[in-house]
Amino acid sequence: MISKKMVSLVQNSSVIRAMFEEGKELANIYGEENVFDFSIGNPSVEPPIEVKEAIIDIITKDSPNLVHGYMNNSGYEDVREVVAKHINNTHGTTFVGENIVMTVGAAGGLNVIFKALLNKDDEVIVFAPYFGEYRSYVSNYDGVLVEISPNTVDFQPNLDELKKKITAKTKAVIVNTPNNPTGVVYSEETIRNLASILEEKQKEFGTSIYLISDEPYRELVYDGVEVPYLTKYYKNTVVGYSYSKSLSLPGERIGYLVLPSQMDDFGNVSAAVNVANRILGYVNAPSLMQRVVARCIDAKVDVEIYNRNREVLYNNLTAFGYRCIKPQGAFYLFIEALGGDDFAFANAAKKHNILIVPGTSFGCPGYCRIAYCVDYRKVTGALAGFEKLAKEYQ
Ligand code: PLP
Repeated sequence: MISKKMVSLVQNSSVIRAMFEEGKELANIYGEENVFDFSIGNPSVEPPIEVKEAIIDIITKDSPNLVHGYMNNSGYEDVREVVAKHINNTHGTTFVGENIVMTVGAAGGLNVIFKALLNKDDEVIVFAPYFGEYRSYVSNYDGVLVEISPNTVDFQPNLDELKKKITAKTKAVIVNTPNNPTGVVYSEETIRNLASILEEKQKEFGTSIYLISDEPYRELVYDGVEVPYLTKYYKNTVVGYSYSKSLSLPGERIGYLVLPSQMDDFGNVSAAVNVANRILGYVNAPSLMQRVVARCIDAKVDVEIYNRNREVLYNNLTAFGYRCIKPQGAFYLFIEALGGDDFAFANAAKKHNILIVPGTSFGCPGYCRIAYCVDYRKVTGALAGFEKLAKEYQ
């Protein structure tokens, strides 16, 4: 009885979610402490204490009708002002509240901007490896996902291939930096080159190409690495931000889009995003959480906890003979699958109760993703299994 489109979406439904369920089953059999589930990017670091304090304060002191009521589809005006000022203070931009649309996380934000922009068969370019759910988000609005093959030398995007694949139908290009699944931060040089290719192609085709910067991991960076703010390099940039990882609030579904006034057709895009937020059924971003993030605008999770996991995993795995780039951000390590077949390798890891995700899910076969946003004891506990697994391939 379900739609044909949903049949295939259900069949291809995220391998990552399936593994998450598998992890729970293994934990029932072997005990939670003996299963090392690195499959899903669910933060293990607690939200900053300011979040809890803000929730209590808001529900105790603020007017209930104000806190829980309907509002403008794009969010509370005062919250959007606070967010705009924060971005300006951090990145030297000049946004105002009208440039901000509060969304139901990054996933909600991406769906809203695609709903607003895409006509049937419009092309959206992604750089492999990429977050697999982009496929569904683009197909939701009958767009066509165009993949750029991975540059496995350093996982910076392959810009030569980008030049060749942009067409008159290209409506958007998605970048995600720090990147899921590699942890790589795209360099300023990459961003400058990317921007100049997009400018050139817009002129060639007489079109507008929107650069969609999906940034749930912006605050999770190590060794003082800088993540360029993309609106400063290319005016047709839309930023999609999320508090799922930066404040460890993934279940609360809160984030925002930034629509710069300088972007092509700002007025219409802004109006379309406002209506899309409503008619996709989100209506508006969760009201209490909007108020919370405005109060906690300077709060941050303790990134040092992820950094400790990163160092231990990277140092040990490379010593065991695994090959990977040291991540500069996010909480993922993307290792070459021993033996070359990512599905076979992930299955071999499962025999050691280690759950990792085949790179094919991210458009990059031959690799596997380890999500190290887990308790430190899980990281150290898994090392013996990783070592045995490596020996099986020697
Ligand atoms: N984009 C990327 C790259 C992600 O990794 C995720 C979640 O893991 C999302 C978007 C969705 O995030 P949210 O929870 O904010 O919807």
